[in-house]
Amino acid sequence: MTRVYNFSAGPAMLPTEVLQRAQAEILDWNGSGMSVMEMSHRGKEFMSIAEKAESDLRKLMAIPDNYRVLFLQGGASSQFAMVPINLLRDKSTADYLLTGQWSKKAIAEGKRYCDVNIIADTSDTNFTTVPSAESLDFNGDAAYVHYTPNETIVGVEYPYIPDTGAVPLVADMSSTILSRPIDVEKFGVIYAGAQKNIGPAGLTLVIIRDDLISQDLPESVPSMFRYATHAENGSMYNTPPTFGWYLAGLVFEWLKELGGLEAMAEINQRKAKLLYDTIDNSVFYENPVEPRNRSWMNVPFTLIKPELDAAFLAEATQAGLTTVKGHRSVGGMRASIYNAMPEEGVKALVDFMEAFASRNH
Ligand code: PMP
Repeated sequence: MTRVYNFSAGPAMLPTEVLQRAQAEILDWNGSGMSVMEMSHRGKEFMSIAEKAESDLRKLMAIPDNYRVLFLQGGASSQFAMVPINLLRDKSTADYLLTGQWSKKAIAEGKRYCDVNIIADTSDTNFTTVPSAESLDFNGDAAYVHYTPNETIVGVEYPYIPDTGAVPLVADMSSTILSRPIDVEKFGVIYAGAQKNIGPAGLTLVIIRDDLISQDLPESVPSMFRYATHAENGSMYNTPPTFGWYLAGLVFEWLKELGGLEAMAEINQRKAKLLYDTIDNSVFYENPVEPRNRSWMNVPFTLIKPELDAAFLAEATQAGLTTVKGHRSVGGMRASIYNAMPEEGVKALVDFMEAFASRNH
């Protein structure tokens, strides 16, 4: 069996141990005589899987009791709409920070529902920076502040959590959740598509503070778009993405066995440093992002000889290093090094990069 090191931005690699466990349990989960995919979501077997996953996630992230954890569908993209639908209440404005393509999409969706105040906009740097904490001047009357802590395409992240005072902070953590410990209490809502650091595509995680779950929305808001519906029904108002929920639970167990998010953060920092050092110490590769705003998870880089891009990608694939091509909107390369990318994978990539540079210099 040959497994490649897959540097995709998502769906991304899953830990081999998790896949092996799922494989061992695929025909007969724990003596039930069936796979998790075939079980009733309301049966006692699946209920135990669901509860264990939530309680492990609560421990890993130290989620306080006054937050609900929802296992939903629709991707992070649905949250771009669910956030304004549920959080605006009697307000008509929300603050947004624009730092890349994903916050831009969240803003476009927010504009369907309210007046969007763009508090910061880093498009003049091609989204290679984030605003400084001191430069942020929030509007006290906003229903919430939305930001994207890690922008997956350009590979830029905030080295701090914005202080929004009493206004709830909403974070699209799709490409950074579980990469390190975070203080959940600083947020009103955290949401993430699963396909990077949580599990397979199709599951969307929402962590929301109780008081933000409104019971009082306009009649026209569909049940499925109300956080209250999902919170009141334990994410089982309709059939949840059962297999994704189960696999996420296996990923949470894997993280716990590894030593939790502190241990994961140390590994992630080492991986990112190795790759950025390789880029910075070479005259052959470049990364445009402001060093203190560089993402630990998504590392874009360009070759100083772009005419060699196709050869670089073909030879990388030959060496078992796949999906290194940059996002179509920025070109070049991008190595996504989420939690499940082992350190050996990053070492293999930097060895390949150095060898390629010396062959083509
Ligand atoms: N936000 C961020 C930061 C992302 O990276 C992505 C997906 N790449 C999305 C939102 C969209 O997520 P989904 O495809 O789950 O809707």
